[in-house]
Amino acid sequence: MKPTPPYFERVEAVAQLFAGADFVLIGAGAGLSAAAGLDYQDPTLFTRWYPQFSRLGIRTIWEGIVGHWAPEDANRRRFWAFWAHHILRIRYDPPATAVYLALRRLVAAKEHFVITTNVDGQFGKAGFGSDVLFTPQGDYGKFQCDRPCCDSLYDNHTLVQQMVAATDPELLLVRDVDVPRCPACGSYLERNLRRDDHFVEGPHLERQPAYARFVERSFSGRLLLLELGVGFNTPSIIRWPFERIAIGHPCATLVRVNREAAEVPETIGGKSIIFHEDAALVLNDLLRTIQG
Ligand SMILES: [Zn+2]
Repeated sequence: MKPTPPYFERVEAVAQLFAGADFVLIGAGAGLSAAAGLDYQDPTLFTRWYPQFSRLGIRTIWEGIVGHWAPEDANRRRFWAFWAHHILRIRYDPPATAVYLALRRLVAAKEHFVITTNVDGQFGKAGFGSDVLFTPQGDYGKFQCDRPCCDSLYDNHTLVQQMVAATDPELLLVRDVDVPRCPACGSYLERNLRRDDHFVEGPHLERQPAYARFVERSFSGRLLLLELGVGFNTPSIIRWPFERIAIGHPCATLVRVNREAAEVPETIGGKSIIFHEDAALVLNDLLRTIQG
């Protein structure tokens, strides 16, 4: 493998690619939101934003999610105490973060499209229109029926606010009456996340053809694949497809930004620029260089 060039040489190289690109395809995973400060592995953030749940022995948002992954009758009121708080903290409270705003400025003048596994709504808040967004893993801002009886998605802001407001601060339990129910069939409502085969994906997959069309059109010009913080949790959604696009495309470069796993297969070594550096740093330096 060739040695990686110095950091600022790589930034300069990507800035040049940006200048010449006809299409920019962004692929974003959890690492981008972590770089934006919404870091599920950060104990300090957890202590600051979820102090009451520290009493349960939980140290990070990630541990909280794992410990409250599936709702069951025995734990439903605690489950919703955690999830309502989590959704409010991550999906609704934060404004658009600086990292996502930088990304938006970076691509605003280019024809672009976004595929992301992130469900925190940051792309929308930063000004990316729903016409350029494909979010196949779901949306923290929506609930669905847990059976599901139909393909409907329900905005959940009011429901999570209500649960949080009425959560018992000592017991960390929501009230029975606040446990959300499907307005269509009366069963429970659930988070709209790709978790198992109950996931209501129809409304999200409606965006898939637009994504496919964008990739197809990009074959007529120069494509920059900008992959940010995509690891190996669900590599079949962004990471591997981006590698395949880079392989098959006549004029594409894959820019892979990932603190833990920035490596690329040897077959696309010559069509890739990799960054082990923090995505926030890389995006800011890129923006500065381009606006220079
Ligand atoms: Zn239902």
